[in-house]
Amino acid sequence: MEFALTSDQQAIVEAATSFAAEKIAPGYAERDKSGVFSKELTAEMGALGFIAPEQPESYGGSEVSYLTSGMVMEALSAADFNMGYVQLLGSLNTQILARYATPELAQKWIPKICAGKCILGVALTEPGGGSDAANLQLRAEKVEGGYRLSGEKASISMADQADIMIVFARTGEKHARAKGVSAFLVEMNTEGVSTGRYEDMGQRCIGRGSIFFDQAFIPEDHRLGEENRAFSQVMEGFDFSRALIGLQCLAVAEQSLKESWQYASEREAFGEKIAEFQGVTFPLAEAETFLEAAKLLCYKTLWLKDQGLPHTTEAAMCKWWPPKLGFEIIHQCLLTHGHGGYGRDYPFEQRLRDVLGLQIGDGTANIMKMIIARQKLGEVT
Ligand SMILES: Cc1cc2nc3c(=O)[nH]c(=O)nc-3n(C[C@H](O)[C@H](O)[C@H](O)COP(=O)(O)OP(=O)(O)OC[C@H]3O[C@@H](n4cnc5c(N)ncnc54)[C@H](O)[C@@H]3O)c2cc1C
Repeated sequence: MEFALTSDQQAIVEAATSFAAEKIAPGYAERDKSGVFSKELTAEMGALGFIAPEQPESYGGSEVSYLTSGMVMEALSAADFNMGYVQLLGSLNTQILARYATPELAQKWIPKICAGKCILGVALTEPGGGSDAANLQLRAEKVEGGYRLSGEKASISMADQADIMIVFARTGEKHARAKGVSAFLVEMNTEGVSTGRYEDMGQRCIGRGSIFFDQAFIPEDHRLGEENRAFSQVMEGFDFSRALIGLQCLAVAEQSLKESWQYASEREAFGEKIAEFQGVTFPLAEAETFLEAAKLLCYKTLWLKDQGLPHTTEAAMCKWWPPKLGFEIIHQCLLTHGHGGYGRDYPFEQRLRDVLGLQIGDGTANIMKMIIARQKLGEVT
């Protein structure tokens, strides 16, 4: 077992950390107000190799390990959870395209995503529900040369800002459930595609909304993977994003803890620094302990992926525990800052709002625990 970073890992993590602190962090609150993510910063992140850095050089990536990609995610998210989201979408979706798009389509879009010049979202959830995703209703009717999509996707991140979208739709019978679902790459300016945005409490510059499909024509070569096989093929990519989401949430918690130790060593009460009171330091010490354990879980999951080993169970653990833990740690850090922490002069209230979304997005804790239970029961039966 080796815990030290290689010199290459150290270099990219240091570069991402200083870029994030200097360029990304200052606009965190402003982007929350404007509700728009920064295309300029995204292009800079791309130029520096921080978006989907695990992709091969032929696609514009840096061919780093999945573990290293997770560390880049941490560096970006510590400064702005939402700009970390851009890297999350890049890594999740380029991986899917590289594996399941035609070579022409992959070559057309992946380099643009890695360069930060294109945002690719993923649309699975529908108004009728997200947890029971295999029950989706959006219809893809086979027509000459392709498919016509009709219906609605709901709760989609970047719905009104993405350039392209991976859309899951029903090509088979309803009773076939997961075995009747296909995935398509949809350009958002396609005729018959429109969007609407929700008023959310957090992740406001990413934004969430509905996508409406009114007989939108999608060429046959824009199907990803085999017809009716999207659940078993395309969705396996979510194991990667679950580990990245864990690190994304923990990075915000780690940054909040650093600021809280600093604050506790400066703020005074009862004639002493509040760091003298164990009632202040013990919750932070406990948070550091849980943070360390949760980060190691995420690192191990990415390491398993790097080795080509199964990691579905670990990925589901990363998706339910770290987002919950991250939220709880940030909450504790807000309290450590007293009345100031409750206000907007500090970033804790925004961090809480931002991180909370990922206790639901990409699957709730209950669904992750169902995956873990299914895997574990599969080992004993
Ligand atoms: C910030 C954010 C970003 C999102 N981004 C995207 C996106 O980009 N693309 C996308 O496709 N979707 C996205 N989603 C949607 C998200 O994936 C769904 O909200 C999620 O899967 C849950 O679906 P639901 O909200 O319909 O809840 P439901 O499925 O209606 O579930 C409601 C509640 O019941 C529980 N529940 C349901 N079934 C069971 C069960 N069998 N056992 C125990 N409990 C159960 C759930 O845990 C939940 O608490 C996003 C959501 C959020 C909040």
